[in-house]
Amino acid sequence: MANWKILVNQNITLPTLFARTMPTTQAEENYLKAIFTIVEKEAGPALTNAIATVMQTSAASVTDMLKRLSDKQLITYEKYRGVQLTEAGNRVATALIRKHRLWEVFLVDKLGFAWDEVHVLAEQLEHVQGNDLVTRLDAFLGHPKFDPHGDPIPDAEGRWTFRKQAPLATLQPGDRGVVTGVDDHSAAFLQYLDQLGLTLGAEIELLERFPYDQSVRVRTGDGRELTLSDKVTHNLFVKT
Ligand SMILES: [Zn+2]
Repeated sequence: MANWKILVNQNITLPTLFARTMPTTQAEENYLKAIFTIVEKEAGPALTNAIATVMQTSAASVTDMLKRLSDKQLITYEKYRGVQLTEAGNRVATALIRKHRLWEVFLVDKLGFAWDEVHVLAEQLEHVQGNDLVTRLDAFLGHPKFDPHGDPIPDAEGRWTFRKQAPLATLQPGDRGVVTGVDDHSAAFLQYLDQLGLTLGAEIELLERFPYDQSVRVRTGDGRELTLSDKVTHNLFVKT
């Protein structure tokens, strides 16, 4: 807290994304990230129960935290209506996601981790403070726009690069696409994709869909034919 005051008094300009009103604890940051994700997914306020599920805690603990975040003006919170991030809260969440995804790129590209191993490590690394660290990491990696799971990395100004992608399930027989991301980030799913030889950038052609269970037969860029379940095709994104 004291350090922060010194910064403010000296009027040091911080990069836009890191301009904060008050320092946040790791727990607060995780809540902000959870709220960001829920609001994005639901396209509306995050309800206490939804936050409790993501944070794996009780609704009562969520309520306590929401009060703290609201006192810090990081969220707006109306009982029964849910939670929205304020501009400051949004900045903190975006900065965290940026750090998380940059670390994931680093771990996969530079340290040789598999894509199913890096999320847990990045959950810790994202809380390491230091704007200069993130700036240098970003430059070192060549300013990547997507993480190892195909998710967009916001830039230093908080801008996102979105691309047109759709679940493989939406393709019709004869359609071709390139694997660009996953909706299910679980290690189990990522390991399964590894086993199938389906990684980001893999070419795929949908050959046939079986009406019985909506599973599909596909041909990969290297000429292999695979049968994929309905669940897999809904969790795999392709760009056509
Ligand atoms: Zn992750």
